[in-house]
Amino acid sequence: MSEPLRHAHALVLFSGGQDSTTCLAHALTRFDRVETLGFDYGQRHRVELDARRVVLQQLREKFPAWAAKLGEDHTLDLGVIGAVSDTSLTRDMAFRMEANGLPNTFVPGRNLMFLTMAGALAYRRGLTVLVTGVCETDFSGYPDCRDDTMKAMQLALSLGMDQRFLIDTPLMWIDKAETWRMARDLGGEALVDLIVEHTHTCYRGDREHRHDWGWGCGTCPACRLRARGWAAYRKGAWA
Ligand code: ZN
Repeated sequence: MSEPLRHAHALVLFSGGQDSTTCLAHALTRFDRVETLGFDYGQRHRVELDARRVVLQQLREKFPAWAAKLGEDHTLDLGVIGAVSDTSLTRDMAFRMEANGLPNTFVPGRNLMFLTMAGALAYRRGLTVLVTGVCETDFSGYPDCRDDTMKAMQLALSLGMDQRFLIDTPLMWIDKAETWRMARDLGGEALVDLIVEHTHTCYRGDREHRHDWGWGCGTCPACRLRARGWAAYRKGAWA
Protein backbone atom coordinates (compact mmCIF):
# COMPACT_ATOMS: atom_id res chain seq x y z
CA MET A 1 0.00 0.00 0.00
CA SER A 2 1.17 3.50 -0.70
CA GLU A 3 1.72 6.04 2.06
CA PRO A 4 -1.35 8.07 2.97
CA LEU A 5 -1.18 11.49 1.38
CA ARG A 6 0.01 14.03 3.90
CA HIS A 7 -0.78 17.64 3.15
CA ALA A 8 2.09 19.40 4.89
CA HIS A 9 3.15 22.02 2.35
CA ALA A 10 0.96 24.99 1.53
CA LEU A 11 0.79 27.92 -0.84
CA VAL A 12 -1.10 30.94 0.53
CA LEU A 13 -2.72 33.41 -1.86
CA PHE A 14 -1.45 36.51 -0.13
CA SER A 15 -2.47 40.05 -1.05
CA GLY A 16 -1.25 41.94 2.01
CA GLY A 17 -4.77 42.53 3.30
CA GLN A 18 -6.38 41.60 6.61
CA ASP A 19 -7.98 38.39 5.33
CA SER A 20 -5.00 36.88 3.55
CA THR A 21 -2.66 37.81 6.41
CA THR A 22 -4.96 35.94 8.80
CA CYS A 23 -4.94 32.99 6.36
CA LEU A 24 -1.14 33.09 6.29
CA ALA A 25 -0.99 32.93 10.10
CA HIS A 26 -3.48 30.04 9.98
CA ALA A 27 -1.24 28.19 7.50
CA LEU A 28 1.90 28.85 9.54
CA THR A 29 0.33 27.17 12.58
CA ARG A 30 -0.77 24.11 10.55
CA PHE A 31 1.73 23.30 7.85
CA ASP A 32 5.45 22.50 7.86
CA ARG A 33 6.34 24.70 4.93
CA VAL A 34 4.44 27.70 3.65
CA GLU A 35 5.07 29.79 0.56
CA THR A 36 3.17 32.90 -0.53
CA LEU A 37 1.83 34.11 -3.85
CA GLY A 38 0.70 37.57 -4.89
CA PHE A 39 -0.68 38.82 -8.18
CA ASP A 40 0.15 42.02 -9.97
CA TYR A 41 -2.67 42.85 -12.35
CA GLY A 42 -2.36 46.59 -12.68
CA GLN A 43 -3.92 47.43 -9.35
CA ARG A 44 -4.55 51.13 -9.13
CA HIS A 45 -2.92 51.10 -5.75
CA ARG A 46 0.62 49.80 -5.61
CA VAL A 47 0.23 50.31 -1.89
CA GLU A 48 -1.33 46.82 -1.79
CA LEU A 49 1.80 45.21 -3.20
CA ASP A 50 3.98 47.26 -0.87
CA ALA A 51 1.92 46.07 2.11
CA ARG A 52 2.74 42.44 1.18
CA ARG A 53 6.46 42.98 1.58
CA VAL A 54 6.10 44.83 4.89
CA VAL A 55 3.70 42.25 6.37
CA LEU A 56 6.03 39.37 5.43
CA GLN A 57 9.00 41.16 6.93
CA GLN A 58 7.06 41.94 10.13
CA LEU A 59 5.89 38.33 10.47
CA ARG A 60 9.48 37.11 10.16
CA GLU A 61 10.68 39.58 12.80
CA LYS A 62 7.90 39.16 15.35
CA PHE A 63 7.18 35.42 15.01
CA PRO A 64 10.45 33.45 14.86
CA ALA A 65 8.70 30.05 14.96
CA TRP A 66 6.67 31.04 11.89
CA ALA A 67 9.71 32.57 10.19
CA ALA A 68 11.32 29.12 10.21
CA LYS A 69 8.44 27.72 8.13
CA LEU A 70 7.93 30.70 5.86
CA GLY A 71 9.48 29.96 2.49
CA GLU A 72 9.69 31.78 -0.77
CA ASP A 73 7.39 34.63 -1.77
CA HIS A 74 6.20 34.64 -5.38
CA THR A 75 4.59 37.38 -7.46
CA LEU A 76 2.97 36.67 -10.80
CA ASP A 77 2.20 39.32 -13.36
CA LEU A 78 -1.42 38.94 -14.46
CA GLY A 79 -1.65 42.19 -16.35
CA VAL A 80 -3.73 40.35 -18.94
CA ILE A 81 -6.67 40.68 -16.52
CA GLY A 82 -6.61 44.42 -17.13
CA ALA A 83 -7.21 43.75 -20.82
CA VAL A 84 -10.54 42.01 -20.18
CA SER A 85 -11.82 43.96 -17.20
CA ASP A 86 -13.11 47.42 -16.62
CA THR A 87 -13.41 47.75 -12.90
CA SER A 88 -12.91 50.28 -10.17
CA LEU A 89 -9.85 48.39 -8.95
CA THR A 90 -7.86 48.86 -12.12
CA ARG A 91 -9.48 51.86 -13.81
CA ASP A 92 -10.32 55.25 -12.41
CA MET A 93 -14.00 54.61 -11.70
CA ALA A 94 -16.06 55.08 -8.55
CA PHE A 95 -17.21 52.01 -6.66
CA ARG A 96 -20.89 51.23 -7.26
CA MET A 97 -23.35 48.33 -7.32
CA GLU A 98 -24.45 47.01 -10.72
CA ALA A 99 -27.99 45.98 -11.67
CA ASN A 100 -27.07 42.30 -11.22
CA GLY A 101 -26.34 42.91 -7.53
CA LEU A 102 -22.57 42.65 -7.95
CA PRO A 103 -20.23 45.57 -7.29
CA ASN A 104 -18.36 46.98 -10.29
CA THR A 105 -15.17 45.71 -8.62
CA PHE A 106 -16.18 42.23 -9.82
CA VAL A 107 -13.80 40.89 -12.46
CA PRO A 108 -15.42 37.83 -14.07
CA GLY A 109 -13.31 34.74 -13.50
CA ARG A 110 -10.49 36.54 -11.72
CA ASN A 111 -10.44 34.23 -8.74
CA LEU A 112 -10.64 31.17 -10.99
CA MET A 113 -7.55 32.44 -12.77
CA PHE A 114 -5.78 33.12 -9.47
CA LEU A 115 -6.44 29.56 -8.29
CA THR A 116 -5.37 28.05 -11.61
CA MET A 117 -2.07 29.95 -11.49
CA ALA A 118 -1.67 29.05 -7.80
CA GLY A 119 -2.25 25.37 -8.66
CA ALA A 120 0.34 25.50 -11.44
CA LEU A 121 2.92 27.12 -9.16
CA ALA A 122 2.11 24.76 -6.27
CA TYR A 123 2.57 21.78 -8.60
CA ARG A 124 6.06 23.00 -9.54
CA ARG A 125 6.97 23.78 -5.92
CA GLY A 126 5.69 20.50 -4.43
CA LEU A 127 2.92 22.19 -2.41
CA THR A 128 -0.47 20.47 -2.23
CA VAL A 129 -2.59 22.86 -0.14
CA LEU A 130 -3.85 26.15 -1.56
CA VAL A 131 -4.96 28.52 1.19
CA THR A 132 -7.24 31.40 0.22
CA GLY A 133 -9.20 33.98 2.21
CA VAL A 134 -12.41 33.77 0.18
CA CYS A 135 -15.59 34.19 2.18
CA GLU A 136 -19.29 33.63 1.46
CA THR A 137 -20.40 35.94 4.26
CA ASP A 138 -18.56 38.89 2.68
CA PHE A 139 -20.69 41.83 1.56
CA SER A 140 -19.74 41.50 -2.07
CA GLY A 141 -21.02 37.98 -2.75
CA TYR A 142 -18.56 37.36 -5.58
CA PRO A 143 -19.69 34.09 -7.20
CA ASP A 144 -16.08 32.97 -7.70
CA CYS A 145 -15.51 33.13 -3.91
CA ARG A 146 -18.32 30.73 -3.01
CA ASP A 147 -17.77 27.41 -1.30
CA ASP A 148 -19.21 25.43 -4.23
CA THR A 149 -16.88 27.25 -6.63
CA MET A 150 -13.90 26.36 -4.41
CA LYS A 151 -14.94 22.70 -4.29
CA ALA A 152 -15.33 22.65 -8.07
CA MET A 153 -11.90 24.25 -8.48
CA GLN A 154 -10.33 21.74 -6.10
CA LEU A 155 -11.72 18.94 -8.24
CA ALA A 156 -10.80 20.60 -11.54
CA LEU A 157 -7.20 21.29 -10.46
CA SER A 158 -6.77 17.81 -8.97
CA LEU A 159 -8.05 16.14 -12.13
CA GLY A 160 -6.43 18.53 -14.58
CA MET A 161 -2.96 18.27 -13.00
CA ASP A 162 -3.35 14.67 -11.88
CA GLN A 163 -2.31 15.60 -8.36
CA ARG A 164 -4.51 15.78 -5.27
CA PHE A 165 -4.92 19.41 -4.18
CA LEU A 166 -6.72 20.71 -1.13
CA ILE A 167 -8.21 24.21 -1.20
CA ASP A 168 -8.26 25.42 2.40
CA THR A 169 -10.64 28.34 3.08
CA PRO A 170 -10.42 29.21 6.79
CA LEU A 171 -12.58 32.34 6.48
CA MET A 172 -15.37 30.86 4.34
CA TRP A 173 -18.14 30.96 6.96
CA ILE A 174 -17.04 33.67 9.37
CA ASP A 175 -17.58 37.42 9.46
CA LYS A 176 -15.04 40.22 9.86
CA ALA A 177 -15.30 40.35 13.65
CA GLU A 178 -14.56 36.62 13.79
CA THR A 179 -11.62 37.14 11.42
CA TRP A 180 -10.09 39.57 13.95
CA ARG A 181 -10.76 37.02 16.69
CA MET A 182 -9.10 34.29 14.65
CA ALA A 183 -5.99 36.48 14.29
CA ARG A 184 -5.88 37.02 18.05
CA ASP A 185 -6.26 33.28 18.70
CA LEU A 186 -3.47 32.48 16.22
CA GLY A 187 -0.92 35.14 17.15
CA GLY A 188 -2.21 37.09 20.14
CA GLU A 189 -2.29 40.88 20.38
CA ALA A 190 1.03 41.04 18.53
CA LEU A 191 -0.61 39.65 15.39
CA VAL A 192 -3.70 41.86 15.79
CA ASP A 193 -1.43 44.93 16.12
CA LEU A 194 0.57 43.86 13.06
CA ILE A 195 -2.60 43.47 10.99
CA VAL A 196 -3.98 46.83 12.14
CA GLU A 197 -0.76 48.69 11.36
CA HIS A 198 0.59 47.00 8.24
CA THR A 199 -2.15 45.30 6.20
CA HIS A 200 -4.03 47.22 3.55
CA THR A 201 -7.74 46.99 2.70
CA CYS A 202 -8.90 50.41 1.48
CA TYR A 203 -10.13 50.53 -2.14
CA ARG A 204 -8.84 54.11 -2.44
CA GLY A 205 -5.30 53.19 -1.39
CA ASP A 206 -5.42 55.70 1.48
CA ARG A 207 -2.41 55.48 3.82
CA GLU A 208 -2.92 58.95 5.29
CA HIS A 209 -5.76 58.42 7.71
CA ARG A 210 -5.13 56.22 10.74
CA HIS A 211 -8.10 54.74 12.62
CA ASP A 212 -8.14 52.32 15.54
CA TRP A 213 -8.69 49.53 12.94
CA GLY A 214 -5.83 50.65 10.68
CA TRP A 215 -5.15 52.91 7.70
CA GLY A 216 -7.74 53.90 5.11
CA CYS A 217 -10.19 56.49 3.81
CA GLY A 218 -12.82 55.24 6.24
CA THR A 219 -15.68 55.62 3.77
CA CYS A 220 -15.20 53.09 0.94
CA PRO A 221 -17.03 49.72 1.30
CA ALA A 222 -13.79 47.89 2.22
CA CYS A 223 -12.96 50.39 4.98
CA ARG A 224 -16.52 50.36 6.30
CA LEU A 225 -16.54 46.56 6.43
CA ARG A 226 -13.18 46.46 8.22
CA ALA A 227 -14.25 49.20 10.69
CA ARG A 228 -17.56 47.48 11.44
CA GLY A 229 -15.83 44.15 12.03
CA TRP A 230 -13.26 45.78 14.30
CA ALA A 231 -15.98 47.52 16.36
CA ALA A 232 -17.87 44.23 16.82
CA TYR A 233 -14.63 42.43 17.70
CA ARG A 234 -13.62 45.04 20.30
CA LYS A 235 -17.11 45.02 21.81
CA GLY A 236 -16.89 41.24 22.13
CA ALA A 237 -13.34 41.41 23.54
CA TRP A 238 -14.49 43.72 26.35
CA ALA A 239 -17.68 41.82 27.15
ZN1 ZN B 1 -11.19 53.11 2.11
